[in-house]
Amino acid sequence: MPLEIVTIPCLSDNYAYLAHDKATGDTALIDIPEAGPILDELERRGWTLTHILITHHHLDHVQGIDAVRAAYPVKVIGAAADAHRLPPLDILVAEGDSVQIGGETGRVIDVPGHTVGHIAFHFPDSHVAFTADSLMALGCGRVFEGTFDQMWDSLQKLAALPPETLICSGHEYTAANARFAKTIEPDNAALISRSDRIDDARAKGRPTVPSLLSVELQTNPFLRADQPGVQKGVGMEGAPANEVFAEVRRRKDAF
Ligand code: ZN
Ligand code: FE
Repeated sequence: MPLEIVTIPCLSDNYAYLAHDKATGDTALIDIPEAGPILDELERRGWTLTHILITHHHLDHVQGIDAVRAAYPVKVIGAAADAHRLPPLDILVAEGDSVQIGGETGRVIDVPGHTVGHIAFHFPDSHVAFTADSLMALGCGRVFEGTFDQMWDSLQKLAALPPETLICSGHEYTAANARFAKTIEPDNAALISRSDRIDDARAKGRPTVPSLLSVELQTNPFLRADQPGVQKGVGMEGAPANEVFAEVRRRKDAF
């Protein structure tokens, strides 16, 4: 049975996720922007938290951990590379390591760029990946610590997951991302209709995440730096994809 995924809005525009294995009762929390809404959701569902998976060290992804850890006997899992600046970890992981949630085995993917120690978690049997501030809905995280090439390589790893993978990302930035994406690919019909659906969802107060990887591949300009439409959009027809990606990212930073 696939993991049951719950999206929890936190702070002004962050998301945390629960991944629950019905058979064993194991429940993982991915990122902890604040404790309140997470503890409320666990209580409402009667779930006992067993694991916390941390994607990266930024405060808006970890700062609720003390209160959550005080409430449940959890194992905290995070990047070995960033152990010195993450909350205390019980299990240190790196690229290719596995993470067990009930009967489901997840795989750790190193996705440096936003931070050098950023990791993602892919659960292939449930077709879900927790990508936080690496691959985001219609966007990608700002490149704070790594290089544009690192971020492009990280996005390529995520783009190679099965297209039916549900991408659980860390922020509600999608409407602004859509406005930017349309400046790059104004003729992308899939992007235009997705943008309309995003506006509709936001008008109703609904999250625009998670999103399907197949939809990201059709619409997300940061995944499409190898596509003629995006190359044309930045005036770099035929240029190497990593250079096109860097230009798209630079434009977004200035948008
Ligand atoms: Zn971050
Ligand atoms: Fe963030």
